[in-house]
Amino acid sequence: MIALNHLIAQLLPLVPKSLVKIFAKQYIAGEKLSHAIEKIRELNGVNISCTLDLLGEDPKKASDCRIAVDTYKKAIREIRDQGLDSGVSVKPSQMGLKLDKQFCFDNFHELASHAKNHAVFIRIDMEDTTLKADTIDLYLQLAKEFSNVGIVMQAYLRTAIDDINQMIENKANIRLCKGAYYWEDKKIVYKDMAIINSSYLYLLEKLLSNHCFTGIATHDETLVFGAMKIIDKLGLSKENYEFQMLYGVQEYLREIIRDHGHPIRVYVPFGKEWFAYSVRRLKENPKIVSYIVANGIKNIFSAR
Ligand SMILES: Cc1cc2nc3c(=O)[nH]c(=O)nc-3n(C[C@H](O)[C@H](O)[C@H](O)COP(=O)(O)OP(=O)(O)OC[C@H]3O[C@@H](n4cnc5c(N)ncnc54)[C@H](O)[C@@H]3O)c2cc1C
Repeated sequence: MIALNHLIAQLLPLVPKSLVKIFAKQYIAGEKLSHAIEKIRELNGVNISCTLDLLGEDPKKASDCRIAVDTYKKAIREIRDQGLDSGVSVKPSQMGLKLDKQFCFDNFHELASHAKNHAVFIRIDMEDTTLKADTIDLYLQLAKEFSNVGIVMQAYLRTAIDDINQMIENKANIRLCKGAYYWEDKKIVYKDMAIINSSYLYLLEKLLSNHCFTGIATHDETLVFGAMKIIDKLGLSKENYEFQMLYGVQEYLREIIRDHGHPIRVYVPFGKEWFAYSVRRLKENPKIVSYIVANGIKNIFSAR
């Protein structure tokens, strides 16, 4: 079933973007910063923290990375000036990691310093494995100077236990997720969901019992309740962890989590570069993806 979903997801780029956009909208706060700020205010109003994400990955030009830096700096100012409860999430490729490592570090350094001055937290998103080692280096360098920076670990990686041990040694601030880059080779990532879930709960317990603050990023009920069990067993307080979910996904579940007194944060993406992010989200929603692909193919044929 997972293989079939992946196959269907691979057909998505063939579907007209206008059709994908109709379904992608549920995952995106809007194209403008003001749209995202509005959603953050609404979520804060119902006791949900946020992290804001400017969509866009893999820019080809340094000037595009600089535009992203400036947009994030503006967003950070707005968050502080409007008294919002939100951090920001930033992709290393968007800061230029594929162009030049030092350029990327300098961009992150500028952002981290600006965010620190505005008391805003920066989460470094994790992308595909070609960027993992450099992303970890980047984080470790920044963490020497800034306490308002954290990183993401992916439980589907076969190297995840080593990665987590390294993070524990560094008392890192972690977001733990399953991993979203579904085309990674089976030599690199587990493909079996039961194994990914076992890895997730094992790593989560390791992080929490070693006093690493952990963002428990999942919409999977088995993992949510497994996490609650670990939290109870370790007698953790709210300063040690939070749940995290993506905008537009499983809203009823985040309310259950919040209503049971657990801290929860929602990842709020905005911007014009919605396609790559939305394809990853749609792939995680097999019913919708099959529907879009079927309709896209029907449209293509009926247009001939
Ligand atoms: C806050 C946050 C930040 C993240 N940051 C990163 C990152 O930096 N790097 C990275 O690789 N990955 C990141 N991810 C994505 C993550 O790796 C997974 O791809 C994603 O969360 C789906 O995994 P899951 O744990 O929800 O489990 P799944 O097994 O995919 O989903 C569990 C259930 O949730 C529901 N569901 C899940 N996704 C959707 C959807 N899109 N639409 C509708 N229903 C859905 C379905 O009912 C599904 O059965 C992040 C996730 C979150 C929540």
